[in-house]
This record gives sequence, C-alpha cells and structure tokens, in this order.
Amino acid sequence: MIDAIELLKDLISIPSVNPMGQPVVPEIHLEHRVTDYLEAQVRGLGVEYRRIEVLPGRDNLLAWYRAPQSDFTVLLDAHQDTVPVETMLIPPFEPRLSDGKLYGRGSCDVKSGVASMFAAFARLVQERPQHSCNVLMAFTVDEEYTHRGSSSLAEMNHGCGLGIVAEPTRMNLVVSHKGAVRWKIHASGRACHSSTPHLGDNAIYRMGRVLEALAEFACKLAGSTPDEMLGPPSLSVGRITGGQSVNIVPDECSIEIDRRLIPGETVEGAIDDVRQFLKEKLKPGDFDKTRFGEPWVRMPALRSGLSEPFWNRLQKGLAGGSGDEPGIGGVPYGTDAGPLAQAGLPCVVFGPGDIAQAHTEDEWIEADQVAEAADRYFRLLSQWHR
Ligand SMILES: [Zn+2]
Repeated sequence: MIDAIELLKDLISIPSVNPMGQPVVPEIHLEHRVTDYLEAQVRGLGVEYRRIEVLPGRDNLLAWYRAPQSDFTVLLDAHQDTVPVETMLIPPFEPRLSDGKLYGRGSCDVKSGVASMFAAFARLVQERPQHSCNVLMAFTVDEEYTHRGSSSLAEMNHGCGLGIVAEPTRMNLVVSHKGAVRWKIHASGRACHSSTPHLGDNAIYRMGRVLEALAEFACKLAGSTPDEMLGPPSLSVGRITGGQSVNIVPDECSIEIDRRLIPGETVEGAIDDVRQFLKEKLKPGDFDKTRFGEPWVRMPALRSGLSEPFWNRLQKGLAGGSGDEPGIGGVPYGTDAGPLAQAGLPCVVFGPGDIAQAHTEDEWIEADQVAEAADRYFRLLSQWHR
C-alpha cells in the first residue's frame, strides 16, 4: 500500500512552482518534475493513463481505475503546482516532520491532497472493492494562476458524474465558492515637458478619476444582493503603474482589477458592468481614453449543482472513522472546481489541511490529516454502490 505521508515528503522535495506570469526559473518552476514522478507511480500500478500537454513543460496527468462492476465515474482532481517560495522562512523543498506537523512548500496546498487522493486511488487499484465506482484521477497544472489545467480537463469528454477537488478544507465539504476575473484598465494621455503641463494631457490624473468611480462601484457591489453562503461580490484595484519620469507629463497609466464573482455572475457580465458604470460616471473625453485589456484570469464561481440528498450521501461517505460527518459550506477562494462545474460536472471540494496554512512563509500540515483524508476518499469510493 502507498504511504501518503512518504509520498507527500517526496512531492514537497520536488519543486513545481507556478511562475505566475513571471520569467521561468528552470530549476524550480513548472510542474514537469512532479509529473515525471507521478507518472512513474501510476505506471507502477499498471493502470491506463494519459499525459496531456497543456502548456510547454506543463502536463495534466490522468489515470483510470475501472471498478469490477460500475457505470459511474468519479473524477478526483488535485493540482501539481505550488505558489512561489521567495517569501518563505523555511527551506521550501526540504520536508521536515516536527511535533506532528509536516513543513514545506505545498505541504498544505495541495501536495497533501495529491498524496491522499493518490493513496486512495492506488488502494482501489490494488484491492478492487466489489462495490466501488470507477475513478478518473487527474493531476492538473496551473491551478494557482490561470487554471489552464482544469480548464483543459473540463473541455474533455471524460464521462464523469461527480468531481471531487482536493484543497485544504479541513475535511469539510465545500459546495460553493467565489470566482474571479482579473484584467487591466489603461488610461492614455499626451506626454510633454512637465514645465509646461498645460500642453499635455495627464494620464495619471485621468486614471485618478477612473479610480474614484471604481471605488464608488466597489461600494455599490458590497451592498448588492449577497449569495447566501458567500456574501456579496467584490471589486478591488491591486496595482497601478504609470509615467516615465517626474519631469514628463505621463501619457500612460494602468491598473489591475480583481473582481470576485458569486454564483450566477459571468465573467463577461462582470466586465460589462464596470464598463457601463464608467461610461455613466466619466466625462466622454475621459471614457474614450480608457481601454480594457483582455482578462488573464477568468475563473467561474462554484455552485456544486448537487441536490441536498446527494450532499448528505457524500457527508456520510466522507465521514471519519468515528462517524463524524464533514460540515457543508462555502469558501471565498477559487479552485479547479470552478471551470469543471461550469462545464456541467457537479463538483465539491474536500481535502486535508487548513487554508490558513496555505501560501504561508512556514507552510505546514498536520501529518495525521493526510492519511485520514486518504482513508475517507477510499471509504467513499469503495462503497459507492452500497
Ligand atoms: Zn490549491
């Protein structure tokens, strides 16, 4: 049997950092080393598998378990990438177990989920329980930046009836989460010597007026009808760049917008609302000199698409050894479940670890949770037809 903790230690020691749009550092960036490792593990099990290129050096790895008698397939999804490591205060790629905690980048988000799911998958393959369902195990790429891996998986006709996505939910059942769209707004002007500013057209001043309108729009959003689990949608401006030098009137200024979506909202609708609002609030001379960039993140919100009896069934199936059932709820962060659910696959998020330790300077996970999660995944999938 595969030991989930040993597997997790190996995974932590293999860097698979997401470059997050920055220049690639070959030694630590991209997922291919982790994919190689997982591919060897999958091959060792002797199951059917496919490695599918999503981007150069970035492949989804899919493996199939065919149950003795089942026409239902559950998709297990866990991402291979981690967030960057520059801000870490511990060695990111040296797994260390101390006081029941396993430290290292990805220990929590989400190599723990990769290890737990794969341990459960391997056990299914080895034991072939009579009442088990089929399982498609998917290790995706680029979850932390633009969800290209899960978007590519969502476009496939994989015939699954339910998706379970691993993220640190403290083994609660997440049935809803927000989505996100991120894009730039550019304001243009006309440059000239700063000693004669009246001869130019200051793009930073123009952006100032755009920002004032956006702050008003953000307030309006905060007061709009909330989702019952997730609260209202939101908008935040997180970055601004502009100008070349203090003695030049700037002809260009850009901002980056992070708009969080609730279920029922679309990426296009959210962008259009902002455009309409600016059109109403700005003078035509200002509005005509702003331009919207193409969004680089377009992650839909998750509404699981499951009925309550089905939730209850999952709660029972994913209960702990003493029968303690996971709670049901929503979370503010996005996951691979967004693109998968948008493509029509009912999805939930469930995994070991606490999101509070994800992306942190000393990322860790309670080691016990990893084996526990593997047991719970296995129990659910092995007794699917009971
Ligand atoms: Zn994650």
